Amino acid sequence: MTYANETRRRRTFAIISHPDAGKTTLTEKLLLFSGAIQIAGSVKARKASRHATSDWMEIEKQRGISVASSVMQMLYREHVINLLDTPGHKDFSEDTYRVLTAVDSALMVIDAANGVEAQTRRLIEVCRQRDTPIITFVNKMDREVRDPLDILDEVERELGMPCVPMTWPVGQGKSFGGIVNLRTQAMTVFDSGSERLPQDFETIPLTEQAQLAERFGSEWTAAMDSMELATGASPTFDEAAFLAGKQTPVFFGSGVNNFGVMEVLDALVDLAPAPKPRTSNLIVNKQPVVKEIQPEDSAFSGVVFKVQANMDANHRDRIAFVRMASGKYTPGMKLKVQRTAKELRPTSVVTFLSQRREAVDEAYAGDIIGFTTHGGVQLGDTITDGANLQFTGLPFFAPELFMTVILKNPLRTKQLQTGLDQLGEEGAIQVFKPEIGGPMLLGAVGQLQFEVVQHRLKAEYDCDVRLEGCQYTGARWITADTPAELREFTNAYPQRMSLDAAGTLAYLCTSPYDVRLAQERFPKIHFHPLREHA
Ligand code: GDP
Repeated sequence: MTYANETRRRRTFAIISHPDAGKTTLTEKLLLFSGAIQIAGSVKARKASRHATSDWMEIEKQRGISVASSVMQMLYREHVINLLDTPGHKDFSEDTYRVLTAVDSALMVIDAANGVEAQTRRLIEVCRQRDTPIITFVNKMDREVRDPLDILDEVERELGMPCVPMTWPVGQGKSFGGIVNLRTQAMTVFDSGSERLPQDFETIPLTEQAQLAERFGSEWTAAMDSMELATGASPTFDEAAFLAGKQTPVFFGSGVNNFGVMEVLDALVDLAPAPKPRTSNLIVNKQPVVKEIQPEDSAFSGVVFKVQANMDANHRDRIAFVRMASGKYTPGMKLKVQRTAKELRPTSVVTFLSQRREAVDEAYAGDIIGFTTHGGVQLGDTITDGANLQFTGLPFFAPELFMTVILKNPLRTKQLQTGLDQLGEEGAIQVFKPEIGGPMLLGAVGQLQFEVVQHRLKAEYDCDVRLEGCQYTGARWITADTPAELREFTNAYPQRMSLDAAGTLAYLCTSPYDVRLAQERFPKIHFHPLREHA
């Protein structure tokens, strides 16, 4: 098969939702029906076994939330589908944003009783910024939920784009009769239970109006009325509009009952996009060199969008997750890290087929491969087989919460340094080193990140630390057009200057006025609330 054929049959998407909407359940069913796993329950089981084998994940277990995101690959209808899970808890939103830079589309799961919830709203914003195409799944139709027209209305308002119903529910809760598939013009009849395979559900063509009306009574009449209203008010499905992030196809179902799931799996193959070209912005002699990299280009390129430690206590290592942008990966290939120009010598490279780490034979654009690393690879790094490329766009947000790290046993200073370097590289927390010396500062977007880091410093690096509050409430990354301007600024605020884990200069602030005053005083200095890895 040619590279173009390989990339065309790939789909890489993230699954997003507010906690408890049914993301884990749906993920499990997608894997089950694509044939990637044999038994239901194994995604949850995998969650559980991770808890059992990885002690820092104790925190996750205690809180019943998912700290880490993970990657799963499945084969369905000759397509390679890469599913990226995202942590639902808002304190780990940074991780989620980075995952969203690695996908070509998103599947949004909504609880039909709750509609669009807080955490979903934040994720939608990020998708909107990037014009990521979104497929919507309205889950839990077997419960007493909201009117489907009402839900569509809310999704449209929140997403700021029209919904295009692809299936339509007949009834809900105790009287949930099933869904009408608007494309095939047939009704799939609901039956509860988690054993049923998609092909086991009864289907009735819409031409059998009399039979449907008799069997589903007033639910049927009401569904036909609301379906007419919904389809009348919404545009028809338009592939170009969907791909441009300007309309979302909507599916209804009940994940836990295996119902309406196959329609979503088919939509991923039929509607979701194959890998798109990515832009490389390399700076050569201070001049930007912009290059569009096509997925089917033969040279290997990819971006590290996630680094994770100790996924499995049996392998005490770290994995750098690379989203491939072009080319083909084969074992033994020589790769280099653009930032350092160093050759990357991965001890092993894995894919995530069937949720087990498996040695990868070959991978193409759109695939996620994991390199084991012992340092030297950072979030946002561009990896190539030799070409000079630099993908940008992996976001780091200026933290709003800061803590000072105090080591209880001063003899462990070196270990603390290693720990903070590694956790900083992973993006678990942002580490700032004040230029005037003194204790290191940790910066986070969510409070829970501090707890995870404190726990991991103890468990993985044997460093007992105390975290103390400090006066800082924000940071801005600093750039200037000339070194002299930059020097003038840093000389004016020596006590506010710090370097982050990537060695980028940041100004620490104690209030929003700080930045404004500094900006007024130094109009030529650029203050960045967001750092894109470059
Ligand atoms: P996540 O936090 O989004 O991953 O949600 P889970 O998949 O863990 O589901 C949260 C809860 O909702 C669990 O108790 C599921 O069994 C339940 N659930 C998931 N899908 C459905 C559904 O379609 N109907 C009903 N009634 N419950 C569901």
